[in-house]
Amino acid sequence: MPPSITFQARFETDEEKVWKHIPFAVPAGVTQMHISISYNDRIDSSPMLKGGNTLDIGLFDPLGYASGSPGFRGWSGSNKTEITIAEDWATPPYRGGKIEPGDWYLLLGSYKTGPNGLTADVTVEFNSTYPAPERPPLPALATLRRGELPAPVEPNWYRGDLHMHTVYSDGDSYPHELTVAAYELGLDFYGITDHNRAQSPVPLVPHGDGWPILIPGVEVTSYAGHFNVWGGSDSWYDFRDYSEVGQQTAVNAALADGALISMNHPKPYGPMWDYPDITGFVCTEPWNGWWGGLNNLATEFWGDQLDSDSAAQWRIGICGSDMHKLKSPGDPTSPLSNATMGWPTLWLQIDEELTQAAIIRAIRAGKAFMSESPWGPQLIVSREGDRVRVHVAAAAGDALLAIGTSGCVASTAIGSDDEVFSWEIEELTPGENRYVRFEIHHPGGNVRALSNPVWT
Ligand SMILES: [Zn+2]
Repeated sequence: MPPSITFQARFETDEEKVWKHIPFAVPAGVTQMHISISYNDRIDSSPMLKGGNTLDIGLFDPLGYASGSPGFRGWSGSNKTEITIAEDWATPPYRGGKIEPGDWYLLLGSYKTGPNGLTADVTVEFNSTYPAPERPPLPALATLRRGELPAPVEPNWYRGDLHMHTVYSDGDSYPHELTVAAYELGLDFYGITDHNRAQSPVPLVPHGDGWPILIPGVEVTSYAGHFNVWGGSDSWYDFRDYSEVGQQTAVNAALADGALISMNHPKPYGPMWDYPDITGFVCTEPWNGWWGGLNNLATEFWGDQLDSDSAAQWRIGICGSDMHKLKSPGDPTSPLSNATMGWPTLWLQIDEELTQAAIIRAIRAGKAFMSESPWGPQLIVSREGDRVRVHVAAAAGDALLAIGTSGCVASTAIGSDDEVFSWEIEELTPGENRYVRFEIHHPGGNVRALSNPVWT
């Protein structure tokens, strides 16, 4: 067999956000292959940068590249340009395993195409001898210190962060390192939602024995919006056809697997969600990362959905840090710094044994509020007959606002760190208002907690 092959792919300036499947022949007898890709005018994938090229990369084996195909070996976005596939390992996020001879397909996507167009040069080495990367060991639970967080002010409330990334997409850490960090922070549950992953994180992390509970997920990442899928099957959902019909098909496939779906970061540079007519969501994410990173617009978007006639599918507000850099956490006062685990934190009320299924059920039931961090305000809202009760903790000196369709319908100063407020529901839902939800505002302007709506 030849020691290597080379080929090129070209995207013209008008071929932005286009996927190409470039076939290449793999001979028999290959036990490891190494793919190197280089291209001109490379710039970072940040949605705030333009003027150059950003190339997304994925790989299919001879089982083919149809939707849901078991031939999907992985997708690394623009994060990697060197990929090794071996029988017993692969560069994360790719799947190792037998290297069948035949046509493999390099998936190339022109996320950004600059003024010179994009030319990608690809080299595939056969029977290369790269060593597997070293994985950091999993420390014994007994050697770790469980984080101590303020106790919930009412029973059966748990906290976690459902939206985070690892080396299985563009994060900087292995899944089990997130488990350790979640344990040391004191979270009860955590989610791993790598972009377009080809393998479940479940076998990659420790379970039971007091470890936080993993909610395995995937962030389906297309060129017109991102959605998180939790639970469901270990299958992958097609991100390539980013037409409304294409992404509705992907949503439907996840729903058929029994998954819970959230529309992610609907705000400028989120990137935005560009599918007004897609249905099937239970959740939306009005709060992603630091509050100051345009989450006021994501919350406005959520509010518009609550106000609209199609509100039923968009009712549950959830939050996630969208952390990628566990090893270099950011600064809550700087919206441009790295997202940090638990900022914000999702709180859930779970009146049964804490399991993955119970966590998903609590989200579906809307028994959730969002808070700036694991130490942040608690905002427990309940309906008691004709009254709405709001139990607020750790927010002395802040303001509590009641928000309905017509905007702010009531407000009060929060005088102590453990306080209960109560209103007649009718008082908070004048005229056409069908719901009321609550926000805790710092006098400096940042929102510190968001509740879900109480409906009339
Ligand atoms: Zn995203």
